[in-house]
Formats: sequence, C-alpha cells, structure tokens
Amino acid sequence: MAGSWPPGVTVTWTFGVSNILAQDLSAAVPPLEAGIMTWPAVCGVEVERVDDNRPVCVLVCFLSDLAEDPTVPPDQSARANWLSGTEAGLTDEPIDGATLPLKLRLNENVIGGWTYEKLLQVVMHEFGHALGFDHSPKRTPSCMEATLDQRVAS
Ligand SMILES: [Zn+2]
Repeated sequence: MAGSWPPGVTVTWTFGVSNILAQDLSAAVPPLEAGIMTWPAVCGVEVERVDDNRPVCVLVCFLSDLAEDPTVPPDQSARANWLSGTEAGLTDEPIDGATLPLKLRLNENVIGGWTYEKLLQVVMHEFGHALGFDHSPKRTPSCMEATLDQRVAS
C-alpha cells in the first residue's frame, strides 16, 4: 500500500493538542502505549515515544468534538458518530510525499468508559492506519496473513 512505512523504520509519536481539559487522562496512557507497542512485533517497524519537542510521525490527540480539530474535513455524519461515541477513533493515513505528522484522534467517550483491553484494541487499530494499513476485507487478523511480505506490503 502506498505510504506504508517499511520494516526497520522508526515511527515516532507523542501527544498532540487535545481539547479535553476537565478529564484526567492518565489512566488511558498505559493501554494506549501498549496498543502502539504491539506494532513492532506485527510488522517490524520500530516505534518510539518522543517527549522533547522533536518533530514526530504521529500525534495522538483526545478530542470531544471533531469540529474543534480544523484538520478534520467537515462531515456531518462523522461528527454525529463522534459525538455519540460510536466512532472510537480517526486517523490520517500516510500519503507518499505528505507533510508529517499524521494525527491519531481518540473520542473522549471511549477514553472515559472503555476497559483497558478495549482501549488497547482501538489504539492498536488506529495506529495501524497511521502505519498505512487498511481494513481487512475478511475477519482475519493481519498477523494471520499467509506470508510476511503480504503482511508488510498490504
Ligand atoms: Zn479503521
């Protein structure tokens, strides 16, 4: 797939600007980091959290309202799903030549109400999009694709 980062590349990430100020998000950090850290084992990229203002590949943001993120295209149904909590996360996908960083957005309803496991799964899924992976057409985990090349390239 166009834009996927090949094995061996280090994908850096940090927390971007969120619009949730009243909620303590510290409980969300361990499952979030665990979800991201699954990816080196899945497809061979390196993943590094960066906290010193260096430019990064992926920004992770907690958002209560998509409309408050000016980089999200206006889409009424997406916004309604976001506010109702049925949309758990939304992630930019890498495009060759595009300016980094990508954004991984998480709905505050998800952060507040979901279990460790569920949040880990959501973050893992969304970070997969940031790496350039699309939805599988079958209910088959990517790690069960037939060959390593297929897993990395598609
Ligand atoms: Zn998805």
